[in-house]
Parts: sequence; structure tokens; C-alpha cells
Amino acid sequence: MFESLSERLGGVFDRLTKQGALSEDDVRTAMREVRVALLEADVSLPVARQFIKAVEKKATGASVTKSVTPGQQVVKIVHDELIATLAGEGEPGALRIDNAPAPILMVGLQGSGKTTTTAKLAKRLKERDRKKVLMASLDVNRPAAMEQLQILGQQIGVDTLPIVKGEDPVAIAKRAKTQASLGGYDVYMLDTAGRLHIDAELIQQAADVRDVVNPRETLLVVDGLTGQDAVNVATEFDDKIGVSGVVLTRMDGDGRGGAALSMRAITGKPIKFVGLGEKMDALETFEPERVAGRILGMGDIVALVEKAQQTLEAEQAERMMKRFQKGQFNMNDLKMQLEQMMKMGGLQGMMQMMPGAAKMAKQMDEAGLDDKILRQQVALINSMTKKERANPQLLQASRKKRIAAGAGMEVADLNKLLKMQRQMSDMMKKMGKMGKGGMLKQAMK
Ligand code: GDP
Repeated sequence: MFESLSERLGGVFDRLTKQGALSEDDVRTAMREVRVALLEADVSLPVARQFIKAVEKKATGASVTKSVTPGQQVVKIVHDELIATLAGEGEPGALRIDNAPAPILMVGLQGSGKTTTTAKLAKRLKERDRKKVLMASLDVNRPAAMEQLQILGQQIGVDTLPIVKGEDPVAIAKRAKTQASLGGYDVYMLDTAGRLHIDAELIQQAADVRDVVNPRETLLVVDGLTGQDAVNVATEFDDKIGVSGVVLTRMDGDGRGGAALSMRAITGKPIKFVGLGEKMDALETFEPERVAGRILGMGDIVALVEKAQQTLEAEQAERMMKRFQKGQFNMNDLKMQLEQMMKMGGLQGMMQMMPGAAKMAKQMDEAGLDDKILRQQVALINSMTKKERANPQLLQASRKKRIAAGAGMEVADLNKLLKMQRQMSDMMKKMGKMGKGGMLKQAMK
């Protein structure tokens, strides 16, 4: 039914056969399609807009590698941004359950899958984390809710708090807390009552329980198929009760994952788990990659682009290595190194991987070389002519003045850069002499 994003973009970029950098126009056209795809995947409009703005910025001017089309390249950029938006901090699925007995409060609307998820999570904690778990149902409204949890508990071999008729939720919660301490449980899970809609009583009940047990985690269970509604529910629960994480259920259905994106973007809450079916082991840690692939409706293109980029980087590295072995290291090489360093998180990390360069890394560090300086240095190189870059010896006083002015810097800055290029060049020469299979080769690995 849905046309996948890759198909949409394929059409847009069919006429673009030329390779090179993505132009502003290309990107703008592509973004129209991305927007439709996001909306079809049930991403809310403000989130789609915000998302597209971020992608637009990243995609404009991005270079397109030889073995992929511009459309594929854009899909990859969109994919990466989706993952960045979806991923929360910390390890996915991690729960704060130290300090036994740790209370976990489960909240959500009726029918969201709260009781099922409580049992699924209890099973996971028992089997994976070797925790002794106690479950208690606080749902005094829905007939048979308590029995439902009890039966699930028997199925998965997890204890449930004995049912006492006529007790109110706060009393049950207190009893669960006592039982958990006395019984040596690591975790006790409280399955609160649900309603069809959020109402004051429901919220009050959950808040009262929260105040009694002081939960380590308050997990909101929402139906992933309800899209934007799920986000509204999450916002409200978070405002009124405070939520530490979200579980999206029914992600096995034909929902397109847009709810997850809106959820992250709007509430900022981490999605910890996804429910993928009715069975007790159909609960998985939330994987941003998987949901991103689902929103885009394709996985193969991303893999293709990644591979193409790797190939290109390998080709570049190979070419550079050959030149270095001959002792050639000009400003183009330096520029590439600098850009690489920025990508790899700074000079230090990069230099430390090169044997014999540790001392230089230290010097650079002492000289206060950070990303800002790296960018300034690249600007200086950009201000040189092709000839000058290939042959920095050409740089006499007048040329130096022009270059420094072009980059908005002083000649002294340029001199520092030149010194660095000379040092690197010398170092490369030394390494080159060690021959193939020597240090340089190791360093390039
Ligand atoms: P509660 O009212 O929120 O406690 O909801 P329940 O746990 O009773 O779940 C309602 C229905 O949804 C049950 O039939 C569950 O089996 C089903 N359910 C729960 N989670 C999932 C899921 O991840 N996928 C699917 N397909 N069904 C689910």
C-alpha cells in the first residue's frame, strides 16, 4: 500500500545521473518526499518538520560516492538522522533495579498491553538478569484483572502477590513492598489500573501509589498502533506522574513506527522496550535501527551506501599510503587528515593510533589544538590554490598574506600550519622507508 521512501526518492533522482555533491535543489526536492513518507509512517507534523530541517542541513553539500545514486545517499542520511533521533541515552533496555527490592511502576491506558507487558518484563528479568521478581496487580476496577496477572505469573514461573478482595490500590502497593522485603525479592512490579481515557481518578491513584513506593522506574505502556494518540498519552502521564521510560506495544502490527519517532522527539523519554506479540517472550529491547528501517521501508539501501562509503575510504587510504611511502605529503593530504581527525573525535585519538606519533599528539595537545583549530586549518588550506596545496614550498610572503587573509587569519597561523605539514611530511618519509608491512601500514589499519 505504501510506496517506500526509497522508491519515492528513486523517482526524484532518476534524472540526476551526475555524481558529486548534493545541491540545495536536489535536497529540497528529496525532502518533500521524505516528508510524505514520514507522515505516512504516522510521524506527527511538527516532528516531521523539525526532522527535515536537520536532515536538510546535513544533506546539502554531502558528497555522493561513486557506487550509489544521490537518492540512495539521501536515504542513508535520513536513516542516520532517524537513528540519532530515536536513540536515547544509556544502554537500551537498561533498568535501574539495584537496591533490592526495587519497585517498578507500570502505568498506561486499558488495553495498551500493560498487564501482558508486566509479565513479559518479569519473565525477562527472571531469565536474563536472574532476578527474583514479585508482581502485584493494583487494578481493583476491572473484573478479573488480578486473576489475569496471577495466571500469567503461573505460566512464567513468577510469584504474584496473593489477592485480597476489597483492598485499595495503595494498600496493595504497601503489602507488595513489605512482601518484597520479607521475601528477599530483587524487584517488585506494580501493575496499576488502566482506563479507556486518562481521567483524574486514574492519575490520582497512580500518583498515590508512586508516593508510597517511590518507584525506581515508572514505565508507561502505550499501544504503538495508536500513533499520535500514544504521544499525547505519554505527554500527559509524564506531566502528571513522571515517566522514566516507555514501552511501545503492538510493534508486530502494521504500524509504521512513526509513533516511536514522535514519542522520542516530543516527550524526550527513552523507549526502553517494544512488544512484538502476545506471547510471553515477545518483548525486545528497543532498537533504533530496526524502527528507522521500518519507517523508511527499506534496509538494503542503507547497507549498500555504508559499503560504498567503506570502499571509498579504503580506496582513499590505499592511495594515500602509496604516496606516503614515497615520502609525499602535501596540503591535500594534510587537509584530508585534518578532516578525518574531526570525524574521529579529535587529534589525540587519531595520532595515538600511529606508532611514533604519540609525542606529536602530546605537542599538539599542549598547543591547544582542538576542533576549532582543526577547522581553521582546513579553512587556511581551502584558501590556497591547487598548485600551492600540491606544493607548499611555493608559499612565499605575498602568497602567505593572501592565503591568511582569505581564511580570515594571521600569517603566523599559516606558518604554524606549514610547520605541521613539514613535520608530518618528515614523519611520513621515515615511516615510508620502513617499507611495506612496516609501521605505516600498521598505522593505516
Ligand atoms: P492492559 O489492559 O493494558 O493490561 O492490556 P493487556 O495486557 O490485557 O493486553 C490487551 C491485549 O493486547 C491482550 O490480548 C494482549 O495479548 C495484547 N497484547 C499486548 N501486547 C501486545 C503486543 O506487543 N503485540 C500484540 N500483537 N498484542 C499484544
